[in-house]
Amino acid sequence: MKGKTTFKLPFLLFLTLFCLVFGQKNDPADKIVFGKTYTLEELRKTNGFVRCASSEYEAMLQQKNPKRMTEQQFEDWIGPLITNAQNNKSQNGGIITIPVVVHVIHSGQALGTAPNITDTQVQSQITVMNNDYRKLAGSPGANTSPVGADTMIQFALAKVDPKGNPTNGIDRVNLCQPAWSTSVIDSYVKPVTIWDPTKYMNMWSVNFSDPDLLGYAQFPSNSSLPGLDVNGGYADTDGVVANYATFGSSTYNDGTFLLSAPYDRGRTMTHEVGHFLGLRHIWGDSNCGTDYVADTPVHRTSNGGCPVHPKSNSCGTTDEMFENYMDYTFDTCMNIFTINQKDRMVAVMNNSPRRMELKASTADIAIPLFANDGELKGERNCNETSCADAPTAVTAQFSLYNRGTSPLTAAVITYSVNGGPQQTTSWSGNLAQDKYAIISIPSVAGVGSISASITSVNGTTDQRATNNSASVVLGNTVPVSSTNFTFELQLDYYGSETTWDLKNSAGTILYSGGNYPDTDPNFPALLTENWTLPLNDCYTFTINDSYGDGIYVDEGFYRIKNSAGAIIAAGQEFTDMQQKQFKVVGALATGEVTKDKNTAGIYPNPVSDVLNVSNVANNTKYEIYNAVGQIVKSGAIEDQKIRVAELTKGTYFITFKNDKKTESVKFIKK
Ligand code: ZN
Ligand code: CA
Repeated sequence: MKGKTTFKLPFLLFLTLFCLVFGQKNDPADKIVFGKTYTLEELRKTNGFVRCASSEYEAMLQQKNPKRMTEQQFEDWIGPLITNAQNNKSQNGGIITIPVVVHVIHSGQALGTAPNITDTQVQSQITVMNNDYRKLAGSPGANTSPVGADTMIQFALAKVDPKGNPTNGIDRVNLCQPAWSTSVIDSYVKPVTIWDPTKYMNMWSVNFSDPDLLGYAQFPSNSSLPGLDVNGGYADTDGVVANYATFGSSTYNDGTFLLSAPYDRGRTMTHEVGHFLGLRHIWGDSNCGTDYVADTPVHRTSNGGCPVHPKSNSCGTTDEMFENYMDYTFDTCMNIFTINQKDRMVAVMNNSPRRMELKASTADIAIPLFANDGELKGERNCNETSCADAPTAVTAQFSLYNRGTSPLTAAVITYSVNGGPQQTTSWSGNLAQDKYAIISIPSVAGVGSISASITSVNGTTDQRATNNSASVVLGNTVPVSSTNFTFELQLDYYGSETTWDLKNSAGTILYSGGNYPDTDPNFPALLTENWTLPLNDCYTFTINDSYGDGIYVDEGFYRIKNSAGAIIAAGQEFTDMQQKQFKVVGALATGEVTKDKNTAGIYPNPVSDVLNVSNVANNTKYEIYNAVGQIVKSGAIEDQKIRVAELTKGTYFITFKNDKKTESVKFIKK
């Protein structure tokens, strides 16, 4: 991070105290998201929030790895899929219906406890998009502008999942972590949850670790439109992401959810989907810039809040169109896409990979349903098992969904632990269609897997067998089918800071790398190695950063994948060292445990004014020591922040103390 002025992660430099209730914030200062600095003035317009990071996301992708922007990488992946996509769906009167899957990312909360948001909240978001994209009369998306367009594009939650089974288009996934940075969302959350992006528009509801970010989107590729790059990004990250608290609209609240005004009417996703369909910000992301749309007025810059007409500007515009969904105004202030914006979106739907196939996708068309149909899904096991630990008993969790038209009141499930004898468990309750219950199965094995199947529902035969079976891996284990693994390392600009090694349980280094050349200002290419790891051993991967800022700041990451491409271990956000342990056991499964050298986290580092603290409870006592061990400041953590503006430049250690443990972290005051 030495000498760099363009940081690449959100939340690096936001300063002072924010009151988070309904976004009323005091004195935000500059903030950087995907390398773009938001000035105090810009943040004030949006109540301190970063309304949308799509343009910065795109610029980051371009700068990050120009090679990544060639077509080949995802064309290889997508080629066979395109071949299968024939236009076999009638487009009713030229209306395009895009099938949608919403991935609700949570960390084990009960249904309805944020961020495991309710079905109604998800559905309210689709309703808003249909109001807005269809300019629906009588809805908040209606307008009387002569250039206001019914885009003829609408959205429907999927009714068929990627395996051909019934779904309500809501994919709930426990990923065992409460909050996510945008970089980890792209390197991990999206790739492990995405549904075929040629058949579904993927939407994610997540809890951002940056509480001020509302959403971001991936632009389309190959649209041939001015203002868009040839390649918008990878296939496995394609889609739109929003914070769970802006996902949906309080206009349609049935009392089961809580959204944060003034971004509580679903317009974050209307805006992000606009990017997904090729629209740029109305002000062209520069003063008096162009959005390449003829019938939108030139805006001087973004608008926040809700201005009044006429709003003239120094670009010669007599009245700005601040109601446009591609501006930054409050949700209740927005109500228009224009005719020429529609033209752009239609061109994208006709030309862009992973957009044009959506026109032919039939994933929104219902398949015949049965009265008695249960679906079993395996839930991730969030218990970490260390290599040194003897396997301890764990509870495996499955979710049982009712995909039938009758209420599901009883189910019998057989299961087997690590291929052992079949056992039986019974469930009873009352589930309406598409609702679910969690079924817990205790296991004394601790590692390995539990496979389970529905054998009857409602006292009778389950009428659809294709969704009856699932398995859960124990102790954070991931099945592997061979001893071949792939290691990927995306360095940041400062390769000289990075070293890593992989040791077996005897401590022998099997593979190692670094340090690497610095490449600033060019982003380094992805490094890939193939590893062969014998069975029945425990492996420790260690990565070091000599400067103490990890590799995440410039969108670096590392991933260890099994031969099927599933991620066994991955990381990027650490300070000076991170370790991942995993097992390759006789049952061909691996287990993972993460140990950061410093479990308490601080950022930014180096810091100028305010240290943000993570993994440390409020009111925890802290002491800051200088390089010669003198206490220079002490106190208790408030709002996860510590002011350090008064410290002189240099190296410090901060110690956090509570009654359970003491942790110490090094940081640099610049
Ligand atoms: Zn935007
Ligand atoms: Ca079934």
